[in-house]
Amino acid sequence: VRTGCRVVEIDVARRQVAVERPNGGKTHVESWDYLVIATGAVPMRPNVPGINAEGIFEVKTLEDALRLRQTLENGEVRRAVVVGGGYIGIEMAEALFRWDIEVAIIDMLPQVMGTLDPDMAEPIAEAIRREGISLYLGEKLTGFDTTSNRLDAVVTDKRAIPADVAILGLGVRPNTDLARAAGIALGTKDAIVINSHCRTNLENVWAAGDCVQSHHLVSGKPTWIALGTVANKQGRVAGLNVAGVEATFPGVVGSAITRFVETEIARTGLGERELDDLGIDYVAFKVDGHTLARYYPGTQPITVKLFAEKPTGRLLGGQIVGGQGSAKRIDVIATALHGKLTIEDVVNLDLSYSPPYSPAWDPIHLAARQLQKLL
Ligand SMILES: Cc1cc2nc3c(=O)[nH]c(=O)nc-3n(C[C@H](O)[C@H](O)[C@H](O)COP(=O)(O)OP(=O)(O)OC[C@H]3O[C@@H](n4cnc5c(N)ncnc54)[C@H](O)[C@@H]3O)c2cc1C
Repeated sequence: VRTGCRVVEIDVARRQVAVERPNGGKTHVESWDYLVIATGAVPMRPNVPGINAEGIFEVKTLEDALRLRQTLENGEVRRAVVVGGGYIGIEMAEALFRWDIEVAIIDMLPQVMGTLDPDMAEPIAEAIRREGISLYLGEKLTGFDTTSNRLDAVVTDKRAIPADVAILGLGVRPNTDLARAAGIALGTKDAIVINSHCRTNLENVWAAGDCVQSHHLVSGKPTWIALGTVANKQGRVAGLNVAGVEATFPGVVGSAITRFVETEIARTGLGERELDDLGIDYVAFKVDGHTLARYYPGTQPITVKLFAEKPTGRLLGGQIVGGQGSAKRIDVIATALHGKLTIEDVVNLDLSYSPPYSPAWDPIHLAARQLQKLL
């Protein structure tokens, strides 16, 4: 393990990589029989005025987090702006808000959590506002006001929001410049194309994690999902194959989970936007229910939205927003997607029931029953 060493070139013909030593020291060459590329993703960094000012943070590495924490511990931060209302943005907003800092989130989309449908994102926005966090949706970052290279305000196309720190949560892109230069085929969003064995188009070159594209088991199309869940499984499969044990990674269904304070959020499969883009004929139904038996102490509201293909009834996806005990239910839907179940199969799923755990008809059953009527 050579930490602090950066690969600057992959030479496939010679089976070598050029490695830059720590602190920009001399480059040396290492050879390989098998190469696994797992270079991950890099955070989006908009090219806007003031982007390099002091007080602007990315949250990609532990060092990034420690730097931010140190700044917060200095006690001079009163106002923070999070740029981006995706899962990293809202998790950061929650963390900052727990430091008793005035927090604002901006996003150019008209909703937070762009991977959910707008109607499912609305209660999340309400939960954010309820905590006193300002939400500026449909506003695009145009730059940062600074004095002597120190951040004063985050500027959007509509206003300037005073800030002592700004957090960038604008998403990531696959880190594949090296792979491209080495002649390795790239696909969706410039992620590396791999087969089900996690092998690239070149012999003895494998790839896994945030830098590769995946096969979407519901749409049947290539997709790019930068999550640790997928990266771990692909890494295992690439490693097994390199070690001579045949293994395959069939694909993903797009499951993701997060939380804002007490609001749990999860999604899997395809949502409205993706289904419309793919031209799939579908029905959707959203049901409001309870996480436990309605009368049971501690029961929480839960909203489940399901999608099914017309006229086959094949389950296409699901989204969940609610209180404690809501989000992990997404795994039932994800498993059903892997099993290519229909809505009728979901209605009849023998899910467990006892009042402290769920209603007799789980909210997933309730949504499936309603959806069945629309088919
Ligand atoms: C704040 C945050 C929260 C997250 N939360 C979740 C979560 O709750 N659930 C979830 O599923 N996922 C989560 N993720 C995503 C998850 O961290 C990634 O999907 C996962 O780490 C990807 O693993 P990887 O090995 O492909 O890439 P990485 O973990 O990014 O590792 C890539 C490594 O390659 C190194 N590298 C890159 N280029 C070179 C080079 N040229 N030479 C040498 N080394 C190089 C990098 O330094 C890095 O160490 C989160 C990510 C962030 C940033």
